[in-house]
Amino acid sequence: MRKKFEYRCEYCEGTVREKHVEREAFKHKKGFVILENVAIGICDRCGNRYYSAGTLKRVQAIAAGEIRPKRTERVPVAHAR
Ligand SMILES: [Zn+2]
Repeated sequence: MRKKFEYRCEYCEGTVREKHVEREAFKHKKGFVILENVAIGICDRCGNRYYSAGTLKRVQAIAAGEIRPKRTERVPVAHAR
């Protein structure tokens, strides 16, 4: 399997490593989409997160209603004070 990550971080001297995470929240214009069991890239020095084009495309498609989500979770929202 070809590695999607393993490149130099844009912000430091670290290397972006592929990591599988149980869930990751992606911000888009109108809110968030959470993907489960997703491969993302994380810099081994600064921890900056990177997402593949395919992953971001999927987030946009879900946000636009082109792909139906498996389920929808309600997220509590509050003012800081
Ligand atoms: Zn970095």
